[in-house]
Amino acid sequence: MTEKNTAIITGASSGIGQATAKELAARGYHVMLAARREERLVDLKKEIEAEGGSADYKVTDVTSADEMKSLAQAALEKTGKIDILVNNAGLMPLSYMNKLKLDEWDQMVDVNIKGVLYGIAAVLPIMEEQKSGHILNVSSVAGHQVMKGSAVYSGTKYAVRAISDGLRQEIDPSHEIRVTIVSPGAVATELTDTITDDDVLDSFKSMSMEPLQAEDIANAIGYAVEQPSHVDVNEILIRPRQQP
Ligand code: NDP
Repeated sequence: MTEKNTAIITGASSGIGQATAKELAARGYHVMLAARREERLVDLKKEIEAEGGSADYKVTDVTSADEMKSLAQAALEKTGKIDILVNNAGLMPLSYMNKLKLDEWDQMVDVNIKGVLYGIAAVLPIMEEQKSGHILNVSSVAGHQVMKGSAVYSGTKYAVRAISDGLRQEIDPSHEIRVTIVSPGAVATELTDTITDDDVLDSFKSMSMEPLQAEDIANAIGYAVEQPSHVDVNEILIRPRQQP
């Protein structure tokens, strides 16, 4: 890629999204930060600018198709182009199914699946018009294997992989549009804060392994987006060395 323009990152207020925003800004992209917690986006924008990078933010709830469309328009206005969308926002309130945590099931479907779909809907027409772009959808190792407590979360992450691979195959071959699935194993972030099922929390406490850091995933995303245009890194599956 010779000319760098805009990268949109959802879930940029924390963890993998925050690290990815810093990584892409350091690589010269103008980053458009999106999440619901405005104060964190303000701080991140300041931090990126202090490092010499370029950033804007837009408070966005990914469960709203209209808000996602406004986010894409705001990003487009800045540089006239959207190179990258990282559909990263996600929730992981793991629970055993017999706890019947229907509200949490709804939230995971809304954020992890519909949020990704609304992100695709917001940028795909723009990327088709440009005839170029890169959509990276964050799935998980849990999108490859199901564990006790992960049934619904895994369901959403399997869906992200199916949606991504279907989209990739449908892209007009004459367009330089790429789709990448990002499937991390355990990463030290705030993601487990959403777990309310004590049985799942107990089984988490008994695990001992050195997790990945958010920067490890950001580096992998940086690798995927910087490949020459004939290369599409279809999926990045990345675990801590000690994770089974
Ligand atoms: P964090 O909890 O640190 O970050 C989650 C981000 O999602 C936050 O920025 C949060 O922002 C945002 N978010 C949640 N709901 C919404 C919403 N409705 N609208 C907009 N943004 C929202 O977790 P991670 O960084 O770990 O997670 C990022 C992604 O990585 C997720 O998709 C997760 O499933 C995936 N993943 C994480 C793994 C891990 O071990 N950490 C492993 C595999 C995959 P805010 O609350 O401000 O809106």
